[in-house]
Amino acid sequence: MTANKTDLTTYYGDFHIHIGATSDGVPVKISGSRNLTFEAIAREASERKGLQLIGIIDCHAPGVLADIERLLDSGEMQEHADGGIRYGQTTIILGTEIEFKEHGRGAAHVLCYLPSFDAMKHFSTWMSQYVRNMNLSTQRNYARITDIQEETAAHGGVFIPAHVFTPHKSLYGSCADRMCDVLDMSLIDGIEVGLSADSKMASYIKELDGYHFLTNSDAHSLNKIAREYNALNLALPTFKEWVMALRANEGRGIKANYGLDPRLGKYHQTTCVEGHYQPNKRQKCEICGTSRFIAGVSDRIAELADRSETEAEQFAAMRAPYYHQIPLEYIPGVGPKTLTKLLSQFGTEMNVLHQATEEELAAVVGADTAKRIHVARGGDIEIANGGGGKYGRVTL
Ligand SMILES: [Zn+2]
Ligand SMILES: [Zn+2]
Repeated sequence: MTANKTDLTTYYGDFHIHIGATSDGVPVKISGSRNLTFEAIAREASERKGLQLIGIIDCHAPGVLADIERLLDSGEMQEHADGGIRYGQTTIILGTEIEFKEHGRGAAHVLCYLPSFDAMKHFSTWMSQYVRNMNLSTQRNYARITDIQEETAAHGGVFIPAHVFTPHKSLYGSCADRMCDVLDMSLIDGIEVGLSADSKMASYIKELDGYHFLTNSDAHSLNKIAREYNALNLALPTFKEWVMALRANEGRGIKANYGLDPRLGKYHQTTCVEGHYQPNKRQKCEICGTSRFIAGVSDRIAELADRSETEAEQFAAMRAPYYHQIPLEYIPGVGPKTLTKLLSQFGTEMNVLHQATEEELAAVVGADTAKRIHVARGGDIEIANGGGGKYGRVTL
């Protein structure tokens, strides 16, 4: 039986989470936290964050595949018939982040997700012909990018360009002015906008109109999971339903994006390599004299825009709403102790952010902190801009 529109429920998902190490301590994402194992991510997502769908994007690594196999064999996790792996309240989508580089262009990252453990194993074997070190995260894949797209599709997978505007290793940031010059546009299932941009900024670019936008954390540690996430309308949290949402089939879809205010992203503004803000392009930084700059996401989008601001606003308004939400850990007054209190009362971070009223929060953490949480989840706060690799700051 297929669910009809009335059976759909809101589920929360974050589809870009790295693995720091395998269960026996072998590093995967070198810059990731060592306690970020497949199992620990599943537990954090299910028990503390309250995410019903997560994408773990280092599953190609043989050591990670061995961890998954052990968790499936022991019965701690189960494969869902409609794709993904069940643990507690959460379905895990198996993915891999790939770096590619076409001749004469800079490198960029893409995300490939596979429906089942078997499909990921086969995809990993295929990848191993083109990747030097399969044990590590986001390695260069020497296959042609369109072949990577075709291989993903052949396995029933999902293909999403990652953090498309960031100055380093992204499609628009370091690879191309137009995605269609590099990718087969018919084999793209969604666009990850990245931490330094939002739907409105991405709506300046016409070729992105046909795709849903995703807001993901790119977490390298447990506490960063769900610093950006998506609300989805689905009948069930499964791979198959996620694909339906990305294609807007039978009422499924992205209901809302929850992302950092782009000004909090670490590449929002153009700065010199020392991090000094450059309001107008100059030959040299007036503060330190360097002539080396890091183009910020906002300036890069202005270069690429093929729409006016009014038009971009109109197109953004047709999309799922994008909420500039501040993660709980950024809110002044919400330290680890307060967070523990909140979780013991409300269960998960998603409940704190989406269910608890200000009065209920106040009963647990006091009126001042409750008010700050309430304001922050509305996104209406003061922010010091980020740029040049430094995150912006909340001044609440
Ligand atoms: Zn990346
Ligand atoms: Zn990543």
